[in-house]
Amino acid sequence: MLTSHTPNSAHIAIVGAGLSGSLAAVVLARAGYRVTLIDKNAVCPKQFRVEKIAGSQVDLMRKLGVFGPVADEATLFRDIINVRAGRIVDRTQNPHFGILYDDIVRIVRAQLPASVDFLVDDVRDIQTGSQTQCLSLANNGPIMPDLIILATGMVDSLRHKVGIGRRMVAEKQSISFGFTLAPENERAPAFQAITYYGAGHSNRIDYLNIFPIAGHLRANLFTFLDQEDPWIREFRQNPIAELCNALPGLAGFVGEMKPVDRVQSWVMNLSVAENVDQDGIVLIGDAFQTSCPAAGTGVTRLLTDIDRLCNVLIPRWVETPGMGKDKIKEFYSDPVKQATDREALHMAGYRRSFTVDRSLRWQFHRRQHFVRRRIAGYFNQTTARQLAASNHAEAS
Ligand SMILES: Cc1cc2nc3c(=O)[nH]c(=O)nc-3n(C[C@H](O)[C@H](O)[C@H](O)COP(=O)(O)OP(=O)(O)OC[C@H]3O[C@@H](n4cnc5c(N)ncnc54)[C@H](O)[C@@H]3O)c2cc1C
Repeated sequence: MLTSHTPNSAHIAIVGAGLSGSLAAVVLARAGYRVTLIDKNAVCPKQFRVEKIAGSQVDLMRKLGVFGPVADEATLFRDIINVRAGRIVDRTQNPHFGILYDDIVRIVRAQLPASVDFLVDDVRDIQTGSQTQCLSLANNGPIMPDLIILATGMVDSLRHKVGIGRRMVAEKQSISFGFTLAPENERAPAFQAITYYGAGHSNRIDYLNIFPIAGHLRANLFTFLDQEDPWIREFRQNPIAELCNALPGLAGFVGEMKPVDRVQSWVMNLSVAENVDQDGIVLIGDAFQTSCPAAGTGVTRLLTDIDRLCNVLIPRWVETPGMGKDKIKEFYSDPVKQATDREALHMAGYRRSFTVDRSLRWQFHRRQHFVRRRIAGYFNQTTARQLAASNHAEAS
């Protein structure tokens, strides 16, 4: 039981050691809490999830103290050519870190302090209360923590045990594909990374990213296709040829490429957990809300969840006994968390409308968007060239 005198003696059990659960365990154990982390898998299986970290995700990972080892193993790339219909829209120069999901999870788990009790087990049942909780495991004895953090991703079974459901925001909202490719000949492509935008509602492709990971090129294709669309079958059989047909001009940029593994895919249901204000249990990451892969917001959401929960709220909660729902509610009504979750849902809707909405308003917006970027890109490049020329003149 929690006491106000020894707050760090609180026992926190985290179910699920994907990115959310593993990171939460690192942060809480480093702060001195007693942490039990449980996952079905000793090693995170290879699966298609986030494959690059960038922007505010880097800042948040740094803040949580886990970014260094991830950066050490990731492939850094900055120069991204953004192309549509065979013409360069602009070039962007922001640091991105290419790394497969199972590697990120492995690296984060490797940072778990020795004090963390990591159990490889299947959590079968949950009972919650305002003072203590109980987790029943398939192979180990029961665990009675003060607080349960549920980080079980999109798996529903455990949430249902405590009456937490999901509100479907958009069923089959998007379908994304990932595969690895290599140049046909040994010549490296003429780009570090490329974003190739689709044709809008006519092919329902939002964009294709090709970027480096560990000596290979990884392709992520984000679409709003119908799951039954016959093109998907053809694409799986012959991904490069089908992409070159669907994205005219692509071949001129990427040269001759061949796939070196099978195409993985993921159909995303966008949903938010319901009836979450419960004693003793708190949901983070995909367990609380899923994200559209095209919007690239899933990791920002889960990092924000961990920062707010582990750095701000839990330290406050453990100052007084119990983990009643009044405390738990504070997490879901945290303004920073709410803003991040809202933005993720907004971006999911935006990317879909941007790609498939046939209304005049969206068609106009889409055209304007690329024209504006082209103009800004032209001026940025001209300014960069002028700066380089004046630096060169000063130096000589
Ligand atoms: C195709 C795709 C592409 C994406 N691309 C991006 C992107 O570009 N940018 C971005 O920011 N986000 C992206 N995302 C989102 C991001 O990958 C997810 O938000 C993130 O992986 C969620 O991590 P998590 O830890 O919450 O869930 P998970 O990684 O699913 O972890 C859940 C864990 O719980 C364990 N578990 C479940 N039930 C039990 C049980 N009963 N007992 C024990 N263990 C259990 C599982 O074994 C698993 O390890 C993408 C997602 C997908 C699907």
